[in-house]
Amino acid sequence: MAGIALRDLYMKSPILLQQWMTTLYGLKLWQERYGEVYERELVVLANRSNEREVIEADQLSRLNAFLQFCMDHNMYYQELFKEHDIILPFESVEDLKRIPILEKETLRKNPNIHSDIKTDILGRTGGTTGMSLEVHFTKEDYQKRMAHVDFFKAQYGFERGMKRASFTGRVICDPNQKKPIFWRYNRPLRQMLISLYHVNPLTIPHYIDALNQFKPVVLDGAPSAMIEIAKYTKENRIQLEFQLLAIFPTAETITPQGRALLEEAFHAPVYDQYASSEGAPILTECIHGNMHLHHETGVIESYGDHDEILVTSFTTHGTPLIRYRIGDRMKIGEGTCPCGQEGTFVTSIEGRESNYVMTPSGRKVYEGDLTTIVRSLPNSVIQTQYRQRDLYHIEMKYVPDLERFKPEHEDTLRHELHLLFGQDVTITLTPVQHIPRGPNGKIVVIDKTTSFRSS
Ligand SMILES: [Zn+2]
Repeated sequence: MAGIALRDLYMKSPILLQQWMTTLYGLKLWQERYGEVYERELVVLANRSNEREVIEADQLSRLNAFLQFCMDHNMYYQELFKEHDIILPFESVEDLKRIPILEKETLRKNPNIHSDIKTDILGRTGGTTGMSLEVHFTKEDYQKRMAHVDFFKAQYGFERGMKRASFTGRVICDPNQKKPIFWRYNRPLRQMLISLYHVNPLTIPHYIDALNQFKPVVLDGAPSAMIEIAKYTKENRIQLEFQLLAIFPTAETITPQGRALLEEAFHAPVYDQYASSEGAPILTECIHGNMHLHHETGVIESYGDHDEILVTSFTTHGTPLIRYRIGDRMKIGEGTCPCGQEGTFVTSIEGRESNYVMTPSGRKVYEGDLTTIVRSLPNSVIQTQYRQRDLYHIEMKYVPDLERFKPEHEDTLRHELHLLFGQDVTITLTPVQHIPRGPNGKIVVIDKTTSFRSS
């Protein structure tokens, strides 16, 4: 209740007062994010070994400590371990397979899934799956996660205290606000929070002016809104008056064409991360484009035949995730990454398990396959969206890059789509200026509003 009242008060306040409130909220976040545990974890990371045996031993000892904690403080796992004769400590990470999988439905329904400890932060998630989940975080776990994310950014030159502009899905402006100030400043973190809900062709020039004034060193947050701004600057040949070190997208799967456009428009490399709101283990991208698991934060296993993963996350003491079927898909790499880092790495994040289109032969075509179709083109398509009219009719909307798109590129797209869906499927291609984002401000690759399943 207090939260809602506070939000109402915020919404009714003048913009200047909202700036102050954002700063105050920033101070609260500062205290939650940075502290002793954060600093200690950074030291651990700075002294990290790159030897496979050391990594494996460290991961196992962290796993055992985490499982022991669950045994001592979590009723759901106490019963589960008893039922399945789980004896600790494990001798290998592989022993995890003796523990049954945790489904989303259990996480949502079973009150015993939350540990009997004091937690500080309540996380809510849902979004893409439409299922609302509640997870509890301790301040310590949160700080550890922050340390891992900051360590990753520091590899690319970004240090805490440098200016960042963050594209946020948090409601920071009145939805009906007329004055073109769609950002607020979180001064303690030197962060410009940018409302992604208000980004559209009419407001973009204001966003660009504000960014030019603020001169961020990095951009982070939802890539979809950044992509719209990138597209606009490119089309209108606008020179930006700041030089970025890097772009760190979060919250959405970034498509190859989105990445190419961002790098071109902002003249800075994109480095992706995976750190879901449920508290999954952290993966961050190396200069070779692979995503490395921070083994200190958990374990990732492949599951089933569709590149699905199960996650075990050591930073979830409040709501422990052990072999959790998170619903994401990833392709796990083989051997050692050219960058030399040892341990688990992922070659691509493929989006949600639930996001697919069915072919007439009953095969699932996932979001990741759909977004990579344009790879056969010379960066001439900026964004795509698919809709299945019926089993034999696929519609594709695309935003062409007007400088590069040639009529024959439609033939290439049609050819690639026929390879995916089969020759007897009708393909309709429609060029559009703009693809509206979904209700939570995110990109919708597969529009299911009129899919064959609901009609
Ligand atoms: Zn690597």
